[in-house]
Amino acid sequence: MLVLDTGSDSVEFMLMFRVAVCLGFVCQAFALEVETDFEGASVRVVQTDTSTQTIRFMPGGDPKRGWPCWWSFRVKGLEAGKLLTLELQASDLPMPQANGSPSNKPLSGEWAMPDRAVFSKDGKTWQQAELGHKLDGRMIYTIKADSPSLLVAWGPSYTPSHAASFVHDQASKTASAQEMELGKSREGRNVPMLRVCEGDRVEARRFGVWVQARQHAWEAGSSWVCQGFAEWLLGSEPEAVWLRQNAEIYIVPIMDVDNTATGNGGKEAQPHDYNRDWMEKPNWNEVAAAQTYLREFTKEDRMDIFLDLHNPAPGDKKAFFYTLPAELVNESMLAKRTQFIALATTTIGKVFPMLDKPKQTGANYHPLWRQISDAWVSMNANPHTVAACLETPWNTEGSTVEGYKAVGAALAKSVQQYLATRPLHGG
Ligand SMILES: [Zn+2]
Repeated sequence: MLVLDTGSDSVEFMLMFRVAVCLGFVCQAFALEVETDFEGASVRVVQTDTSTQTIRFMPGGDPKRGWPCWWSFRVKGLEAGKLLTLELQASDLPMPQANGSPSNKPLSGEWAMPDRAVFSKDGKTWQQAELGHKLDGRMIYTIKADSPSLLVAWGPSYTPSHAASFVHDQASKTASAQEMELGKSREGRNVPMLRVCEGDRVEARRFGVWVQARQHAWEAGSSWVCQGFAEWLLGSEPEAVWLRQNAEIYIVPIMDVDNTATGNGGKEAQPHDYNRDWMEKPNWNEVAAAQTYLREFTKEDRMDIFLDLHNPAPGDKKAFFYTLPAELVNESMLAKRTQFIALATTTIGKVFPMLDKPKQTGANYHPLWRQISDAWVSMNANPHTVAACLETPWNTEGSTVEGYKAVGAALAKSVQQYLATRPLHGG
């Protein structure tokens, strides 16, 4: 028993008290916390264990707002030098059926489980974690914590604020780049868009080029491909200068800003997928606004290139194009598309593994194939229009910010290489 009135015990008590306070402080400093107070965050925490520095979780998305496969959150209270273990399980929420009622079947976990998760100290530089491993249907990632706080995610995050500041920065430093807004989303968010047009050539005599990414909010990598496209275009290579001077180019890094901002998957969102919305009266504001620009290009007979950027299935390790089957496009369009895709396959293939041939959409791919972006453009644009969707793998060692941007730069180069072979509009 502690006797407080003797000198030595009193010192002992004070020491114990200090140790206890200190331990309490240490425990508090290292209590694991999960934070989601930022754009694009998504997680449902199942269990947190500070002693083993383990977080068990699922993606946080609402299945009505698309496949719940994207996840992104901040972990605080990490003990430096100790491993952080992330135990990821599939969302257990039932997916809605086509009529909106629940199917009682959750989404397969593989869409949420890249082989390598990513982490970042500042939200700017992302690093891949070591290869994860599967255990009882869960994916286990370990990350050496070297700071008290880390962002962890499915892949390198790319949010509407990032798109807005990218567009703003490019427009501020480059005279030929213009900061624009494609429009407002259904939830009232701004949809950032970059327009690039250099020199005196009148618009009507320029090639019309449209590049968009992220009709599916979880496919964050496609926005990085899009940014890589824009960065190459605004760079100093003579081919990039040529493209800026001879084309009018619109770039939309994120189409579905609402689901991206709220950390939802977007794919197969209710009432229907963004990329099944290309019809006379679209449900989504971004699709309707894009169609207005594309119709204008078509009216002026200069809807030259339409590119829609995506990330494919977990097992796809090579990039590839999706196009309409040959029998559904006219001969002139087919010849030009074949030429462009051959150029792009060679150029992209130098920086990222790429399939030799495109995969096909059309009736065998999806019953609503006519409402897919490149199909709508192919069927509603000019006879010389090239429309395609590019899928860049997200589940490889090369699926990093740098890897994605290299694909975007190569794609932009291919657009230049192709357009340089075409007669300029209006002679
Ligand atoms: Zn997609």
